[in-house]
Amino acid sequence: MRYSKLFSKTSKTVPHDADSANAKFLVQGGFIHQEAAGVYSYLPLGLKVLRNIEQIIREEMEEVGGQEISMSVLHPKQNWVTTDRWDSMDVLFRLKGAGDKEYALGPTHEEIVTPLVRDYVFSYKDLPTAVFQIQTKFRNEPRARSGVLRGREFSMKDLYSFHVSQEDLDRYYDEVKASYFKIFERLGFDPKVTYITYASGGAFSKYSHEYQILSDVGEDHVYACEKCRVAVNREILDDQNTCPECGNKDLTEKKGIEVGNIFKLGTKFSDSFKFKCTDKQGKMQPVIMGCYGIGPSRIMGSLVEIFSDENGIMWPKSVTPYQVHMIGLGNDENVTKEAEKLYNDLKKAGITVLFDDRDERAGAKFKDADLIGIPLRLVVSSRTLEKGGVEWKERNKSDAKEVKLGEVLAKVKEFYS
Ligand SMILES: [Zn+2]
Repeated sequence: MRYSKLFSKTSKTVPHDADSANAKFLVQGGFIHQEAAGVYSYLPLGLKVLRNIEQIIREEMEEVGGQEISMSVLHPKQNWVTTDRWDSMDVLFRLKGAGDKEYALGPTHEEIVTPLVRDYVFSYKDLPTAVFQIQTKFRNEPRARSGVLRGREFSMKDLYSFHVSQEDLDRYYDEVKASYFKIFERLGFDPKVTYITYASGGAFSKYSHEYQILSDVGEDHVYACEKCRVAVNREILDDQNTCPECGNKDLTEKKGIEVGNIFKLGTKFSDSFKFKCTDKQGKMQPVIMGCYGIGPSRIMGSLVEIFSDENGIMWPKSVTPYQVHMIGLGNDENVTKEAEKLYNDLKKAGITVLFDDRDERAGAKFKDADLIGIPLRLVVSSRTLEKGGVEWKERNKSDAKEVKLGEVLAKVKEFYS
């Protein structure tokens, strides 16, 4: 991609309501565009990052047997009345359509997925089964803040599983629990800041689990056992003031960003929708459910909080919008020729490149590269060509080095292997 053709540009202006690194750098870097408080459009660079995050999550959900579907965003009011949540859920967006028909804009999809799966599953032989989607969700938050961390509209992966017995749900729940740690590691989070937090399980199980990325901009207060990378959240601290894994009494208060949560739903929703299936003895039994959420847009914001410095973002390799940020400097004919050749060679080899081919000062180009945060910057100039190569600079390192033109491709491949 030629930067000169990219319609979304970087901006020097700090958004007036930027209260966090992600709100500032994502807007200034041209990743997202604010439409209203807590409502953002994704621009080309931002959408690439979001899609990379979603793809990692998708692969791991398929690994645990999840089948991808896409459910309706408009939910008939009746489904929410059936579960008694039409009036009780305060963040529900309610709206009126033609003929005064009422709908909700989906904040979560138990009200849709339960009757949907019920139409296809009749016997224990059809279970277990699990479906997931990655979709935009809506919450009528009274107070949206922190860029894409707490939005009124946000991306969500929600997986729902259906089981014939509690033992089978427990087994599958543990499988998803482990897969989430794999996801966060692939996304680039240091396991040291990724905590699983015990939260209230509601009526049907002792605990549910949240995944927190420890960060000072986090809104959640958790009480962490640093030995186990386990924490308890504030709402259950009164009942559970020791580490649930090792009994450690010395829990430290930390702030975290909740990026995922998993719940054992039991039969709450299958009871509401009368979703039963026959067991081995031919008797009708309510289906037992679990649900597993993870927020790609919130992860994008958390990554910026963790991986940024005063100059901008430092994307992990696995989610970066492009693999190489290439800069050509000056109008020298030879520089243009070699830069164009390197750009084409990298592309041909399957390396994604953002090529800053603008007629701009070096300082402005370097500033933009730091703000956008691609892990690897390559500079071609008459000075680097005199030395026979390009300047190689990694975003999270302070020093640069020279790499011979003939070795660049192999080195880039190695860097991303
Ligand atoms: Zn512990």
